[in-house]
Amino acid sequence: MVNKINELCEKYYSNIVDIRHELHRNPEVGYAEFKTSKLVADTLNNLGIEVQTNVAKTGVIGLIKGKYPGKTILLRADMDALRVNEETDVEFKSQVPGVMHACGHDGHTASLLRAAMILNELKDELHGNVKLMFQPDEEITGGALPMIEERILENPKVDAAIGGHLWGGLKTGTVGVKHGPMMASPDIFNIKVIGKGGHGGVPQNSIDPIPILCQIVNTLQTIVSRKNNPVIPLVISCCHLKAGNLDCHNAIPTEAIVGGTVRTFDEETRLFAEKTIEDIVKGITTCQGATYEYEYIRQFPPLINDNDMTDLATSSIAKVIGDKNVFELKEPSMGGEDFAYLAKNVPATFVFVGIAEDEKNPILHHNSKFAWDDENMKVLCKSLCQIALDYLN
Ligand SMILES: [Zn+2]
Ligand SMILES: [Zn+2]
Repeated sequence: MVNKINELCEKYYSNIVDIRHELHRNPEVGYAEFKTSKLVADTLNNLGIEVQTNVAKTGVIGLIKGKYPGKTILLRADMDALRVNEETDVEFKSQVPGVMHACGHDGHTASLLRAAMILNELKDELHGNVKLMFQPDEEITGGALPMIEERILENPKVDAAIGGHLWGGLKTGTVGVKHGPMMASPDIFNIKVIGKGGHGGVPQNSIDPIPILCQIVNTLQTIVSRKNNPVIPLVISCCHLKAGNLDCHNAIPTEAIVGGTVRTFDEETRLFAEKTIEDIVKGITTCQGATYEYEYIRQFPPLINDNDMTDLATSSIAKVIGDKNVFELKEPSMGGEDFAYLAKNVPATFVFVGIAEDEKNPILHHNSKFAWDDENMKVLCKSLCQIALDYLN
C-alpha cells in the first residue's frame, strides 16, 4: 500500500503544484476564503466526492465513503492567508497587495486535496470513511470551533482527527510528532490605566498613567521569572503600548494602554496568569491613585495530542519517509493552533512537516519573505494518506 500511495502521489503531483500556485497567487484572509473554498469544492466535486459548502461561512467538508463499513477519520487543512505584503521573488507571488500565504496554509489545502484524490482512488479498499475538513480562519478567531458547532464531527460521527503544519523550524524531509501537549493556548489581555491628564510642566496636579504603566510592564516580567514554577511552561508578552499623542510634548495623558498575550498548557497556569496579572495591575494603580480596566480573553485551548493517535501517526509516517526521519519533538511550541478544538473532542494528533533546508536557519512564518519548496507537500500528503489507511484498515 505504501508503494501505491507513492505512485498516486507522483501521479497527482503536477496538478497539486498548480493548485498551490493558484492559491498562493490569490490569498484570502480568514472568513473571506471565497475563491479558495470554491476551488476546493470544485476539485472535490470533479472527483465525485460528496461535498458540503458554506460551513461556518467559507468552510468546506468532503466525505469519501469506503466500500466497507468502519470508523471515520477526519483530515484537516486550513485555508486562510495573512495580512502581510509578500516580498519573495517566486513566480507565483501574491497578486493581492497586503495579503500573503505567509504560514503555508496554501500548501495544507493543496496537500489535503491531493490526499483526497489518492484516498478517493483507494476507496474500494477502505473500511470506513475519510472526512475532509477545509476550515476558514485559523490565524485570527479560529474556524475550527464554528465548524464543530455546525456539526462536522457528526453524520457520520468522527472517531479520530489528524492535522499537519508545514514547519519552518524543521528540516525538509522530516516530520516532528509530539505526545501530549504540543501547542499553547494563545490568550490575550488588555490593560488600561486611568489617571488624570494635565499640563506636562505641572505633573503634581495630574496622575500620570505613563510611569504607572511602565511599572506594570516591568513587574509583569516577574510573573514568569519569579513567581512561576520554572518547569511549567508560561509565556507573558506585552505586544503593544499606547499613551498620549505623537505630536504632543506638553500634556500628560489621561490613559495608557498595554496589550499582549499569555501562553499556557493547563488550566491551573492559565488561571494563575490571569489572576496574577490583575493583582499586579491593581496593586500598582491603587498605590498611585489611578484606576484600571483589565480584560483577559481566552482564545483556543492548548493542543494536547492523544497518545495512541500519536503512536499510530509515528509508525504510519515512518512507513512513507523512513524511521529516522520521524522524531518526537523535544519541546512543545508556544504558538497556538485551533486544531486544539478537534483534539478536545476526539482522539487526535497534529504533526509538523519540515520545510527548512537547514534547521539551524529556520524559515520564518508570518514573514514577508516566507517561501518553501513545493516538494515538501509530498511528505504531508503521504503522511495524511498513510495514517488514514492504517487507522481504518
Ligand atoms: Zn500562522
Ligand atoms: Zn499556520
